[in-house]
Amino acid sequence: MISLRGRASDFGPGQHLDRAVWMVVDRDRLTPQRHGRAYKLRDCEEAPPGFGLYLVDDARFAPRDGAWIALPPLLRYVAAGDVISASESGEHVRVLWRAGSPNNSVLLTERCDHYCLMCSQPPKERDDDWLLDNAAELIRLLPTSTPGIGFTGGEPTIYGERLIELLRLCRNLLPDAGVHVLSNGRRFANFGFARSWASVDNPRMMVGIPLYGAEPALHDYVVQSEGAFEDTVRGIVNLGEVGQRIEIRVVIHQQTAPALPEIAEYIARNLPFVEQVALMGLEMMGFARANVKDVWIDPLDYQPELREAVSLLALRRVRTMIYNHQLCLLDRELWPFAVRSISDWKNEYHAECTDCSARDRCGGFFFSAKYKVSESIRAIPAAETQAPALLSLGR
Ligand code: SF4
Repeated sequence: MISLRGRASDFGPGQHLDRAVWMVVDRDRLTPQRHGRAYKLRDCEEAPPGFGLYLVDDARFAPRDGAWIALPPLLRYVAAGDVISASESGEHVRVLWRAGSPNNSVLLTERCDHYCLMCSQPPKERDDDWLLDNAAELIRLLPTSTPGIGFTGGEPTIYGERLIELLRLCRNLLPDAGVHVLSNGRRFANFGFARSWASVDNPRMMVGIPLYGAEPALHDYVVQSEGAFEDTVRGIVNLGEVGQRIEIRVVIHQQTAPALPEIAEYIARNLPFVEQVALMGLEMMGFARANVKDVWIDPLDYQPELREAVSLLALRRVRTMIYNHQLCLLDRELWPFAVRSISDWKNEYHAECTDCSARDRCGGFFFSAKYKVSESIRAIPAAETQAPALLSLGR
């Protein structure tokens, strides 16, 4: 687990930072640009002049002039190329971007019009538009060669056209970046909004939309919102009509696992234009923990349904991936579909994994697996990983 936020060990007395978002630089990665840059000082290093903020690991080495923050121990990994945000006084620090990570995902809001049974980040109603402003600042600071960026929520489409503007900014300033946005898809039921999305005109942009049933009752129950299935499917169809790239996400839990084959059949028959389908293991955070009795299921218990769903999709040539699963709990035939999908900052391994021959290929666990995990985790002997899989699932 890598911390992404913390309280400064110390900060300049009475200071008022003139901006929230800062690109970190140091003496090895110094650009002529000073604006929006926070200089990370090494111990005893003389502070170069002109930066709006200095970062130190130890308050004893804070500069005599200028605003400064002494990073808490868990954020001392912050390095040149990373982007942080800080509260006006410098007391609270968040890491928005880690230059060395392939898993940078930017939270745009905690508000959402769904209330999913297993939501890992339960919605909050408070105004958090500043997250959108910070995201725009982040995009302005990132190098143009940035390979990818993800946006998540809450529900990012609640911003309407302001989200579209952010995505345009991304296309213009980060032309090489793959852009992935998570959305519940309902807003796209409005064809005008789907057209607006398409007007961003970014072939590297994809939206990931969850579908939890092959009919309204199950999907609406899982997301706790009447009419959601109809809107979401309409939204997916609208996006398809305007030629957008779509990923469908199915989180597998006690309610959805029995319906996996029907959901797969529904997608293959009715939404064959989607680019990919991700069948996802549960993250035991937020509502998933609160609703553990209704959502927890041991992955071993849904292998037949998962196998059938993958088989159905693969035979119809729908690109299919299994996210967030441990290989020792997956049927051997499903291994080729498994993706190491858990973001590095919340990815961990079990004590059992130390001696496992599949560890390099296995995605491991969410940090939150400490709250609930299958009792069948077992190290896989080398003889098993080396044996070729008996593939009967089309791929
Ligand atoms: S023992 Fe650990 S590394 Fe090995 S397959 Fe299971 S979860 Fe993955």
